[in-house]
Amino acid sequence: MRLAGKVALVTGGARGIGKAICLLFAKEGANVAACDVLDEDLAQLEKEAAGLAGVVKGFHMDVTNREEVKAVVEKTVAEFGKLDTLINNAGITQDAFLHKMTEDKWDKVINVNLKGTFNVTQAAIPYLKEAGSGSITTTSSIVGQFGNVGQTNYAATKAGVIGMTLSWAKELARFKIRANAVAPGFISTPMTQVMPEKIIEYMVEKTPLKMMGEPEDIAYAFLYLASDEARYVTGQVLGVNGGLTI
Ligand code: NAP
Repeated sequence: MRLAGKVALVTGGARGIGKAICLLFAKEGANVAACDVLDEDLAQLEKEAAGLAGVVKGFHMDVTNREEVKAVVEKTVAEFGKLDTLINNAGITQDAFLHKMTEDKWDKVINVNLKGTFNVTQAAIPYLKEAGSGSITTTSSIVGQFGNVGQTNYAATKAGVIGMTLSWAKELARFKIRANAVAPGFISTPMTQVMPEKIIEYMVEKTPLKMMGEPEDIAYAFLYLASDEARYVTGQVLGVNGGLTI
């Protein structure tokens, strides 16, 4: 098993990409703190994970609430004894053309995607240092690398997490903590299932592999980066996008 003995904390872990990460990590032997604001989905995830090699335990955590974040990181360490790998995956969209984007939409997306990532990582750092070979992997997006119509706020956050990742890779290397990002393309999750059928067809047509990705396609990239197989990999952004960038 590729994560035997490791402890992971996954934000936005209740559904979509985060849920796939929690299940794959537990299959590969990790004990996982699945953190989200969706308590019912977390309870369902715990049930689905029963019987896997590692345990998945759900924790209510709003990444914008610094007190709650700190408390849940501490509870994770109390439950599983340590923290080896942090997965910053919680994210939202609030799309609008630039001329129509309200301050509220801007603030909400910045708060969850960018400040939330900062909050959780800052709270996790003392424990990742103790682990001796910790890792941080953050969900960026193809939109953070190439931009997108109607996503000024989202693009700013997804480019921002790349900047934070590169800074952490430099700043934390002396503690043997690695920091990387995964930049998914167009993935079938509740986030994209609300998009109009016409846009989905257009995006699939534009993708060289002619399909949307599944959450598991992204989870495997996180698995590699969190595992010791990637012990010499830091400061990288791994695109998983069906060739959409070529
Ligand atoms: P998703 O199904 O909506 O999952 C995101 C999860 O994060 C949801 O459970 C969501 O809960 C939770 N969340 C939202 N705000 C939170 C907060 N303040 N604290 C804790 N959890 C919170 O979306 P997904 O597609 O799996 O997205 C996962 C990550 O991948 C996101 O960072 C997203 O930006 C990124 N991404 C997705 C795609 C794609 O095509 N799907 C492409 C590139 C990048 P709520 O339902 O309450 O919001």
